[in-house]
Amino acid sequence: MATAVCARELTVTIGGKRILKDLNLDVEKGAFHGIIGSNGAGKTTLFDTLVGFRKATSGTVRLLDSNPWPRNPQLLRRIGIQHQSPAFFTKMTLVEHVRAVASIFDVPSAYVDEVLEALNLTAAAHTRCTKLSGGERQRLALASALVHRPEVLFLDEPTAGLDPAARKSLVELLRDTEFGTMTVLYTTHYLEEAERLCDVVSILDQGRVLVTDSPRSLITKAHLGTTVLLPGALHQEQQVRGLFSGVEKGADGLLVRTDDAASAFALLTHNGIETAGAVVSQGTLEDVFFSVTGREISR
Ligand code: ADP
Ligand code: MG
Repeated sequence: MATAVCARELTVTIGGKRILKDLNLDVEKGAFHGIIGSNGAGKTTLFDTLVGFRKATSGTVRLLDSNPWPRNPQLLRRIGIQHQSPAFFTKMTLVEHVRAVASIFDVPSAYVDEVLEALNLTAAAHTRCTKLSGGERQRLALASALVHRPEVLFLDEPTAGLDPAARKSLVELLRDTEFGTMTVLYTTHYLEEAERLCDVVSILDQGRVLVTDSPRSLITKAHLGTTVLLPGALHQEQQVRGLFSGVEKGADGLLVRTDDAASAFALLTHNGIETAGAVVSQGTLEDVFFSVTGREISR
């Protein structure tokens, strides 16, 4: 598989402190690749280094088969970057801003309209940048990052600071937008979001990539098992404890941990345990993060 972005033994030291430590990363062309990590893990430093805003202290970085450092204007045209704290031309309206960005790259103006439409920004097109809502600002930042149809798009916490409704609508947009063959690298600390959006995620912890795989594979490999919640079986606790070793009592019912939900149900039914309203849940990326790093993610 062709690689869009690659880092080998990448170390970045800032002010004597090692921020990235022998980091390895491969991002396949066309993938929607998430980098998840706590606040301070090194996500923004990693992006800055991958795009050539910051020099690697040691190790190598390849971006579209080139070295991004020193800054290469030809390469910059082929990538799009949404910064964590985007800055806009404050005197301009939204559409003027996107046109200004587009003109830097000689993008046809028809394509500006297309991007505004796709990102649900047409209604706000003539609003001054300073008057936009949080969700509109993030979508404007996204429009500005992808209006020139980059081959690789870097999104640094595109949904941070949004209220849950705006976050959800931006996530749906990201998922539904026709990225085509675009490669997307995206950082977040919202793990349920990464689980829904990403083909592949890397867990970045204290400057190192600890694991990289699809969310589903990470969850399966972590052997988190399955939890079955039995809301109607609280009065049968002793019997259920006799059948399974991992049984807990919760406010909503009995919780049974198992590796095989089908066999568990067969056993429960055979023993006359109430299974009406049972809820089966798999592990989540949140659980994987905890099992891999030993900590909850911090924001
Ligand atoms: P994240 O984006 O995952 O929150 P950052 O890459 O912003 O993490 O930061 C990683 C670490 O590097 C933090 O401890 C931060 O304080 C430090 N750091 C980042 N940039 C600088 C800088 N310019 N000067 C000093 N320390 C920095
Ligand atoms: Mg950051």
